[in-house]
Amino acid sequence: MQIDLRSDTFTKPSTAMLNAMFTAKVGDDVFGEDPSVNYLEALAADMFGLEASIFCPSGTMTNQIAIKCHTQPGDEVICDELSHVYQFEGGGIAFNSASSVKLLQGDRGRITAALISASINNKFDVHKSNSSLVSLENTTNFGGGACYNFEEIIKIKEVCFQHNLKLHLDGARLFNALVAKGETPKQYGEIFDSISICLSKGLGTPVGSLLLGNQNLIKKAKRIRKVFGGGMRQAGFLAAAGTHALQNNIERLTYDHVAAKEIARALIEKDFIGKIMPVETNIIIFEVINSCTPKELVERLKQDDILCLAISPTQVRMVTHLDVTKEMLKKLIQVIEAL
Ligand SMILES: *Cc1c(COP(=O)(O)O)cnc(C)c1O
Repeated sequence: MQIDLRSDTFTKPSTAMLNAMFTAKVGDDVFGEDPSVNYLEALAADMFGLEASIFCPSGTMTNQIAIKCHTQPGDEVICDELSHVYQFEGGGIAFNSASSVKLLQGDRGRITAALISASINNKFDVHKSNSSLVSLENTTNFGGGACYNFEEIIKIKEVCFQHNLKLHLDGARLFNALVAKGETPKQYGEIFDSISICLSKGLGTPVGSLLLGNQNLIKKAKRIRKVFGGGMRQAGFLAAAGTHALQNNIERLTYDHVAAKEIARALIEKDFIGKIMPVETNIIIFEVINSCTPKELVERLKQDDILCLAISPTQVRMVTHLDVTKEMLKKLIQVIEAL
């Protein structure tokens, strides 16, 4: 029994999801003729109260398409220093959009209206790049699954509105935040100019992300997706997995959050575990101290068929997801207690 806590991307499609995929009706989506893709795109847009959405192979692509849509070469994107769009997308903002980045030091990946306000360049100063986009991440990946307070997001929107900045949400794990905070997709649809969600993380599909926005944005996004090489043909087999996920795998995220808190409670008892970031959703990031290193701990757990990641010289990350069963959780807690 292997317990894979490296990421929630390691999930395999369930039998029910595979059945939905097998029986999907498909067509050529580059021609707009795949009924399963069209269905998923409409379903997601409707959930968020937005006009349209576009199905893409990855969250990196949906983020990068959004950034490309919202910027001109030489512009500046404002985001937290831990942001996936900056740290983990291969320098894509520079490569794809020829834009620079203003990194803010937020709190576990979350930035504030005040920080953003103070970082906007004077648009009449020719020395400065043109601040044109703010990108938020909810939940934050390398901030340990932290969630934004919605009141702060409203304040951020106000700042963006005043300064004519677009506002993008990297919502790779937005559904974890919605479930944890009792929020709705429509609240987010009302605020953001674009929203990226991953179907292949906590929602458990093998592949796929969606970019959501108004008709105009998604029309632009369709062209850029093609340029990026992301136009897919009979993608309905994958879209059917996404529809299944949106219809079945959202509420159950609560269980992943409970499991993550249980793991944290077991870890905190250990003298070689230092600070654990507050566990708000399905990510546990903790320090390893006292003559034990993250690498050593990862190796030790591997002996018990438990996989997790050393994400820095001092930190280990564990992520819970729908393939972590109650039985696995029990074993994991026992192994931690016996360490
Ligand atoms: C996983 C992730 C993405 C997208 O990743 P892909 O592997 O390209 O789908 C984007 N943002 C965050 C915060 C993520 O965790």
